[in-house]
Amino acid sequence: MFKYAIDFKGSIPAEGDVMSFVFTSPEPIAWTPGQFIHYTLPHKDADQRGEERWFTISSAPFEGDIWITTRINSEYSSSFKQKLMAMQAGDPIEADMPEGDFTIDDLDRDYVFVVGGIGITPFLSILKHLDHEGKGLRAELLYANRNADSIPFKDDLEAFGRRHPGFNITYFIGDNIIDEAALKAAGEKLNDPIYFVSGPEPMVEAFEAKFKEMGIDEAHSKFDYFPGYDA
Ligand SMILES: Cc1cc2nc3c(=O)[nH]c(=O)nc-3n(C[C@H](O)[C@H](O)[C@H](O)COP(=O)(O)OP(=O)(O)OC[C@H]3O[C@@H](n4cnc5c(N)ncnc54)[C@H](O)[C@@H]3O)c2cc1C
Repeated sequence: MFKYAIDFKGSIPAEGDVMSFVFTSPEPIAWTPGQFIHYTLPHKDADQRGEERWFTISSAPFEGDIWITTRINSEYSSSFKQKLMAMQAGDPIEADMPEGDFTIDDLDRDYVFVVGGIGITPFLSILKHLDHEGKGLRAELLYANRNADSIPFKDDLEAFGRRHPGFNITYFIGDNIIDEAALKAAGEKLNDPIYFVSGPEPMVEAFEAKFKEMGIDEAHSKFDYFPGYDA
């Protein structure tokens, strides 16, 4: 597969332990909002998680740069993320072609976005892109986080909702989880919605099982699994 060497530009802190890492490409990279990239970052003394990772592109195509938005664990970070944090402007990372179908193909449809924490990254790209095009969408965002005071990109999401009234957010904090009743309540506000689920792998797998019980079929659901995080 064709690989790009893209260059580190800088990092931008977000809420809590979330950080965006900005890369620029010497040659233009095309992607559809919601897609991800497989990266290779060679480094000495790599831990057992190794030198490769997948990250959603959290920037929108009009921004030009490729953004990785991730959690940096203050007590323990993988050697990959330590290397990411140590990068200097101009340092390269190897990137494969953008891929994935966690994308919005039809703005005439309604959507329920079920998100756990850092799983918000594909929606950042999707919503920034729509906003730039002057388009909204009819969607209910169900957004689960551990703490109310460090919800990633809360202000940006709410600003999008103010500009595009068909977009609504419901927060779920701590033990207040997104359960079947919450899924149904969101679905009932909409017309035959498609459910997009993104977040830590165990969370997304749990929703996949829940959807089977609820009769939400493959034509009405898409899943984006982030391994390496607890539910
Ligand atoms: C298609 C796809 C898209 C993705 N998009 C994103 C994205 O946009 N953003 C994103 O953040 N991730 C994304 N991921 C997941 C990403 O690839 C990483 O798996 C994830 O960020 C975890 O990173 P890490 O393995 O470097 O661990 P770190 O984030 O460094 O975390 C280390 C983890 O290790 C555990 N731990 C804590 N203490 C210890 C200890 N003492 N010893 C051992 N382990 C400990 C904890 O669970 C901690 O969270 C995506 C994955 C896929 C497949």
